[in-house]
Parts: sequence; C-alpha cells; structure tokens
Amino acid sequence: MSFPRRATRQISVGDVAVGGGAPVSVQSMTTTKTADVERTLAQIYALAAAGADIVRCTCNEEPAAEGLAQIVPRSPVPIIADIHFQYRLALAAMEAGVQGLRLNPGNIRKPEHVKAVASEARDRGLPIRVGVNAGSLDPDIAERHGGATPEALVDSALRELDYFAEVDFADVKISVKSSDVPTMIAAYRLLADRVDHPLHLGVTEAGPLPGGLVKSTAGIGTLLAEGIGDTIRYSLTADPVEEAKAGRLLLEALGLRERRGLDLIACPSCGRAEVDVIKVASEAQEALAARELPLQVAVMGCVVNGPGEARGADLGIAAGRGRGHLFVRGQVVRVVPEDEMVDALVEEAERIVAEGVEARLAAADEEAAAAAAADRDELLEVQGADVNEAEVHISRIRELAD
Ligand code: SF4
Repeated sequence: MSFPRRATRQISVGDVAVGGGAPVSVQSMTTTKTADVERTLAQIYALAAAGADIVRCTCNEEPAAEGLAQIVPRSPVPIIADIHFQYRLALAAMEAGVQGLRLNPGNIRKPEHVKAVASEARDRGLPIRVGVNAGSLDPDIAERHGGATPEALVDSALRELDYFAEVDFADVKISVKSSDVPTMIAAYRLLADRVDHPLHLGVTEAGPLPGGLVKSTAGIGTLLAEGIGDTIRYSLTADPVEEAKAGRLLLEALGLRERRGLDLIACPSCGRAEVDVIKVASEAQEALAARELPLQVAVMGCVVNGPGEARGADLGIAAGRGRGHLFVRGQVVRVVPEDEMVDALVEEAERIVAEGVEARLAAADEEAAAAAAADRDELLEVQGADVNEAEVHISRIRELAD
C-alpha cells in the first residue's frame, strides 16, 4: 500500500528531482566550517553514505563561498548554500557553482535584494528554497498575525513568491518550519492548499535525541501520510549523520523509498579522476550487492583526495597512475593493478565482514601507504593544485565582495 501524493510542479536540485512525482528526497546539513574544504567534504560523503540525497552547507561569509567553489565539483550529492543575512553571499554561492540556495525571508528583507538574487538564479537555472522559520519571521508579518502562527508563516512565504514573480522566477520549493509540531503541521497544510510548489518538510530546532527524533517524526510523518511533502530534513542536535539516517528510515517505513542494502557511494569524478568512476562503481555495485555485505563502500576517482573524502566508509578504492588504492576507513591497505580494482574490492569486503575492520587495518601491506603517497605526489605534480579551476570562481567571488 502507498499514500497518494499531492500533485506539485517539479524542480531539479542538480540531478535530484523534487516534486512532480519524484521520490521524496532526504536532506541534511553540514556542521563543519564550509571554508574547511576537506572536513566539509568528508562530512558530505558520510551524509551521502547515510542516505542524504542533497546536502546544505552554510554560506555565511566570503571564505565559505570560496570553499564552496572547491567543494561542489567534488561532492557526491548536490549542494545547497544556506544564505543568512547578506544577499551578496547568495550571488557568491551561485558563482561558486552550488545547485541551489536556501533564503530565509525573515533575514533578507529588502525586496530589491531578494529580486537581485532571484534574477541571478533565474539566469543560471538554479532553484531556491523559500525557508520560512517561526523563530526568525519578518517582524511586520508576526505583528499583523499576533505571532508566528501558521497563517503568518504561510504569508511570509507568499510574499517572497510575489517578489520572485516580479522577476519571472518560480523555480521554488518552500518550507514553513516551526519547533512547535502542531503549528508546523497546520502551516504546511495551509500552504499545500495555496501553492503547487514542492514542499520541504521539517520541524525546526527539534533538539537532541530522543525528543528531537520523536518531534520530527510526528510532524514530518503526519504530513507525508497525507501526501504532503517532497523533500525532508530532520533538524537534530546531534551528528548530522543521524539526521540523514532518520530521514531515510522514515521514508522507508512509510514505503516512500525502497530499503537500501549495500551503501555504495561514488565520487562525481571531477577534473582529477583517473578512472571511469561510473563504470567501476556499477561493476562494484553488482558484485557486492549479489553478496549482501552490510558495508559502506566508496568508489573514488583519484588517490589524491579519495581516501580522505571517503574516510567515513568502511572500505573504498581510489584510482591513480594505473593502480587501484584499496583503503579501509581512509587508510590505504593495498595497491593493485587498475584492472583488478573491483575484484580486490570484493575480496577485501568479504575479509572485513569475516575478520573485522581492526584486523584488516592491522594486516595492511606495509608499503601501501608509501606507494599511495608517491602516486598522490606524482598526480599533484602532473595535474597541478587547481584541476577544477576553482581559482577562476574564487577571483570572481572576491570581485563581487569589492
Ligand atoms: Fe574527489 Fe578525486 Fe573524485 Fe575528484 S576525482 S571527486 S578529487 S575523489
């Protein structure tokens, strides 16, 4: 049995369709400083492995926008920039290449600023989430309604849509979040009657476990069972990996997404890729799924960044200089010829299941780490430091700030 879904228009966040009959997607948000590119990417990979289809990163200052220029080409899932008060940072995030923006109408209030961002998003073909939040509602709307009522939250979203319409922009999804579950449910029901945009569900600041999980599940689950909601986020005071896991599990429990067996993630293969990642990943998926191994496995295009980006995975393989670098929890344990990558991955996966991660780390080939370091250095020398031409975007971001 399945729940009939509310009909909406469809938008695309990178390659993830939202609304219009697309599978309900799971979102989460990084907690690292976005300017810390390597830590942020490691967290994005962990979130993707846990079930996140889309990840949001804060873009609260210029170094964060510059970080996004380096993160986006290497992220396995689409990235949304969370914009706070400065509309210029929304322009900078778009220059950095993000696949979408989240704007809070209560934080960016000047109509000309909202319209400048929407015009740029329209020209670039990027979607925006109108993210209304009861805790930061526009003061004039709160005053008119006597507080952050469901009607007030919906009014704030509709006013933002009016600004967007003035510049012919409607590539939008909407959230009307409150930390009060009945208010949140009532607001989304009202909104669902008023617009045909896809809706992003969440209970804001739901808090630590277990209360945060219960509140979020009550709010999000109730609406999904009514057919309302196209993408969801649990906002927990916890490791965001828990948010992604909870979101995925809720969708599976409601029959809105299929149960996952093997967690396989693959990098998007940026300018550093040394191998056809899609081909290797699909061969690995087929070989590992047939064995039903309960592991998180990463297929990464290069040894320069692959083991570090996917250090949260139990096991992975990264390519470089015609060889496959097999790594366990980010540590390279064996180096094999490139055409043996998939076989080596399957063999190591079976050994991890039989012997455990610690035993496999202890059995690492002593020369593997040095061989990986040598291949990494050689690749860096040949390819240079800026394969994704992030510097071009970073210099434009700096011009925007001047
Ligand atoms: Fe990351 Fe390397 Fe894949 Fe590029 S090719 S996304 S740097 S692992």
